[in-house]
This record gives sequence, structure tokens and C-alpha cells, in this order.
Amino acid sequence: MTVYFDNAATTPLDPEVLDAMLPFLQNHFGNPSSIHGHGRQVRAAIENARKTIAHLINAAPSEVVFTSCGTEADNYAAVGSIRTLGLKYAITSPLEHHAVLHTLQALEKAGDIQLSYVRHDEQGRLDLAHLDALLAGHVGRSFVSLMHANNEIGNLNDINSIGNICAQHNAVFHTDTVQTMGHYPHDVQQLKANFLVGSAHKFHGPKGAGFLYRRSGQQLDSLINGGSQERNQRAGTENVYGIVGLAKALEISYRDMSAHHQHIQGLKDRFIQKLRAEIEGVEFNGTSAEADKSLYTVLSVSLPASDINEMLLFNLDISRVSVSGGSACTSGANAGSHVLNALDCDPSRGTIRFSMSKYNTAEEVDYAVAQLAKMYQKTPLKA
Ligand code: PLP
Repeated sequence: MTVYFDNAATTPLDPEVLDAMLPFLQNHFGNPSSIHGHGRQVRAAIENARKTIAHLINAAPSEVVFTSCGTEADNYAAVGSIRTLGLKYAITSPLEHHAVLHTLQALEKAGDIQLSYVRHDEQGRLDLAHLDALLAGHVGRSFVSLMHANNEIGNLNDINSIGNICAQHNAVFHTDTVQTMGHYPHDVQQLKANFLVGSAHKFHGPKGAGFLYRRSGQQLDSLINGGSQERNQRAGTENVYGIVGLAKALEISYRDMSAHHQHIQGLKDRFIQKLRAEIEGVEFNGTSAEADKSLYTVLSVSLPASDINEMLLFNLDISRVSVSGGSACTSGANAGSHVLNALDCDPSRGTIRFSMSKYNTAEEVDYAVAQLAKMYQKTPLKA
């Protein structure tokens, strides 16, 4: 059996998405900026994709800007607003994806902003009173970037409350929704966020296509200079088939969301129950095992100290189970996962992230747990 449990890294393309993309790989090759028929046909497909995405998240089409990926959308929201609006203060958390953390840290290093981090507890739950205090303590408009769901441990942040706190302080709020777009419904009329992001390959769309939702009234300076594509917000000829695939993938995700949520949550519950039964001392990182506080697609497993831990991913790979690892820092040379380090996880324990999709089955869960359990039965646990 070959099993793929690394869907937080990327997901397989849905055949329905491929069908929607194919005409733009095979026949409709025009440049969308050309004014002749070949170009206009392709331009119409891009604008339809924009309308589809806008409709799904309850935005206006003009608020959707296509990018090459989630990372670019995160960079654009942060660098674009800080530069365009002249913001001097930003707040984030040490648990953010590097697409946000490294971007804000680079701006801090360049002397453009002062950067603060919201406190969190040992499970990675953010201290929103601290966010409120940080915002209250700063004169002038702030930029806040706090993700919806953590890609490593699966913690869900309460972005509605964060949005309300930011609105009270007139702060610009960007939330990295890469792991929840296509998996949870987003409604930008309800949520007080200025920016949301999406990345097609995280919900069975193609790689190389993402978008930024940018609340109207906040036109940002483009990060990429050149032509006037994307209403002067993102120069460069559009990734037409990627954009068509992105919109189709999001449409399918919304269409089938509740059924997939139920199916995948069932797999996650099965994982938790089987792992507890088969591996003594197993634990779960962050709020990963709590259904209402974590992504239903991600389970971050903390395994007892054992000589096998160094080889976990390798051995699972040999058993044809693809997963992601992540470890707390063990030495200066091994920087480890910045998320697990921020949670002060015990470096002698092993970490595996199982991330699931609509294509996974209960049999695959049983197989993966059996492979893992075999390794621990063969190798004695450390005292
Ligand atoms: N933000 C989060 C939370 C992610 O999980 C990822 C990818 O894993 C990204 C941003 C980057 O997205 P992309 O791979 O589309 O650049």
C-alpha cells in the first residue's frame, strides 16, 4: 500500500480541476492582455475565475488579486500595506509560517518597522489580551498578521475575535488562511480582516496559483514592476490555466465542504484513537487532538523518546507512507521546527504530522498506524 498523508504540504490535483484547465493548456493560448479575439477569450476566463472566487468568499471581484502562491500573497499583504500606508509597527506571533515571519523580520531588520510578538501558552493558544495591550500601547496605525490555522500543529486561532480587537484599534489585519481556504467557509463581510490569502495546491488545485483578498479601499503598491496586469497590482502575464484551476478547485471545495469535513474528521478521530491504543506514551502537539480547536485536516503527533525517532520519516517512507516531520531543537546545528521550539516541546520526543484529504481512507489510517506501532514495538523506549 502507498499512502499519502502530507496534504498540508500539498494536495493531489482533482481530475475535475484538470478538466477545467486543459482547454487553456491545449487551445486557448492567447495573452489575456491582447485586445484581439484570442486574448479576449482568455481574459474572460480570468475574470470569470475572479468572480467565482469573490462570490465564494462574499467579496467583490475587484478585491481579488491573483498571485503565484500563498507566500507571494502573504508578502504582498505585509510589504504592500507597510510600505503603501507607511506603517511603523507590526504584531505577529512566533508560530506563523515563514512566509509571514521572515517577511516581517526582514522589514524589521531594514529598520522599516518595529515588530512585537503576541504571547501564547504551551499549547500555542494566543493571548488575545496581550494583543489588545500591544495595540493599545502603540500610537499610530499597526499591522497585525495572525494566521487562521497553524500548518504544523493545526491550532485554529479565533480570527473573529482578533479581527474585532484589530478593528477597535484601527489596525490593518492580515490573516494567513492558506491552510483553511477551501476547507472552512470564509465570509469577508462577517470577518473584520483586511487581507486573506489562498493557495490552490492546498485544496486540490494546481501549484503556482494563489490569490490575495484585499478589502476595497486599500490599493497597494505592486511588489512586481512591469505591465498593468491585475489593475496595476501585480505585473506579469497571468498564469491563466493556474487561475482557472484555482477557481474550479475552490468551487468544488465549497460545494463538497461539509461532506469532506465529516469524512476527514472521521479519519482524524480514528488516527487519535488507534495511536492511543497502539503506542504507549503518545501525545499530540498544540491543540491538535481537540476537534473544535484544530484543523480537521492536521494531526501533529508527539511520540515517546526512542532511538527510532531519528529515523521516523525514513522508515515510514520505506513503508511507503509519506508524512512530514518536525522536531524540537536538539543542538545548535539542528535548528528544528520554529513552532515546536516556541512551544518548548521536549527535543527527545519524535514528531510526525499526518495531514489528510478527501482522498484518504480508513484503511490507510490503519496501515500508517500499524507501520508506526511496529517501529516502536521493535525498539525499546528510552527511560
Ligand atoms: N502559509 C501557510 C500557513 C502555509 O501552510 C503555507 C504552505 O505550506 C504557506 C503560507 C505558503 O504557501 P505556498 O506554498 O502557496 O507558497
